[in-house]
Amino acid sequence: MAFSVDDIRKDFPALQQRLEGGKLVYFDNAASAQKPLCVIEKAADFYRRDYSNIHRSAHELSRRATVAFEEARKCVSKHFNAPKNFTAVFTRGATEGLNIVARCYGEKFLKKGDEIILSQMEHHANIVPWQLCAMRTGAEIKAAKILPNGELDMGHLQSLVSPRTKIISIAHASNVLGTINDVQKISEIAKKAGAVFCVDAAQSSPHFLGDISEIGCDFFACSAHKCFGPTGEGALIANTEILNEMDVWQGGGDMIESVSWEKTTFRQAPEKFEAGTPNIAGAVAFARALQYMDSLDIPAARAHEAELLKRATELLEKIEGLRILGNAKNKVPLISFAVKNIHHNDISTMLDANGIAVRSGHHCAEPLMNALGVSGSCRASFAFYNTLEEVEFFAKKLRSAVNLLS
Ligand code: PMP
Repeated sequence: MAFSVDDIRKDFPALQQRLEGGKLVYFDNAASAQKPLCVIEKAADFYRRDYSNIHRSAHELSRRATVAFEEARKCVSKHFNAPKNFTAVFTRGATEGLNIVARCYGEKFLKKGDEIILSQMEHHANIVPWQLCAMRTGAEIKAAKILPNGELDMGHLQSLVSPRTKIISIAHASNVLGTINDVQKISEIAKKAGAVFCVDAAQSSPHFLGDISEIGCDFFACSAHKCFGPTGEGALIANTEILNEMDVWQGGGDMIESVSWEKTTFRQAPEKFEAGTPNIAGAVAFARALQYMDSLDIPAARAHEAELLKRATELLEKIEGLRILGNAKNKVPLISFAVKNIHHNDISTMLDANGIAVRSGHHCAEPLMNALGVSGSCRASFAFYNTLEEVEFFAKKLRSAVNLLS
């Protein structure tokens, strides 16, 4: 299918609206992306026709729902090109996936003196679960530094590796700097060290990145809502053998093999991590969102995103007092920026008055904000459905806001 941004925009009902401030310019995609009609309809159709609980009942609707849920699981693994020996566990999102790894793998296998390597650019979702794990096991966290341009200092990361390194967990792409990390290289470093490698794919997956076979990681966590799918849904895709060695996550229905007062036994992965009734329609709609992404002309969509980033960078670089946080060679299409003597909230409020949605704050990356020496920033994050006209309009309104506020 040829890539036409005008046609693609027609697939997204939310993008058609006008706000009080004007036409909606949605540049908050890194926080959560809009949904194409096919995803909305998939969830609605599932509820209209096929909905029931899964796995348990011997009736037609339960069979249909179970098939749809298990097909969705296969579709998620296929989209991310997971090796045959990997399984997709459905989660609430990347946060839950990372918590499962830290709790069920980390707390089972780590002991005092072991080391976990993260990076300075991690989201809180890839810091706090490891801090909890370190607190409970006595393991230690080391953070690889970033270079002045926002790239990961691979030399520093390598220097942190020791025989005590048991886990490396790194974002594929930073939600603040946009930096795309060389996860293949990090995977090699982890393998050499005999450590497991966990990829936080929350920000890379919406941009057609995340080939698990190519990366060679052990764990891969992502969120459906950033990939044009529903909220409250995501996947942890991981090596099945490792998943089976891990502790269980929550206890309850569906994750057990047998229960008695004397002894309860658990099912294998993925079910052992999916206690209770899951977000069945969420999983089905997530798979539909990934199929939608797969139906696009991906090289053209990526080239379009790169063009949006290039144009936005050129225009923002011209605004006096504005500092772009992160100038890595390889970036997902987002720009975080701080303006001298102007609070980021004031800028985002003025942009909102013009219908432009950007994020402002610490972006759940306080350690990174400290390293960059800022209290927060604004972030404009693009998706394949954004246009160059929107970028130009945004830059114009941003320039006026800066002039007014300075
Ligand atoms: N990691 C990164 C890099 C993120 O940007 C986010 C979401 N902002 C998360 C993890 C957590 O994702 P979720 O809130 O969907 O669980």
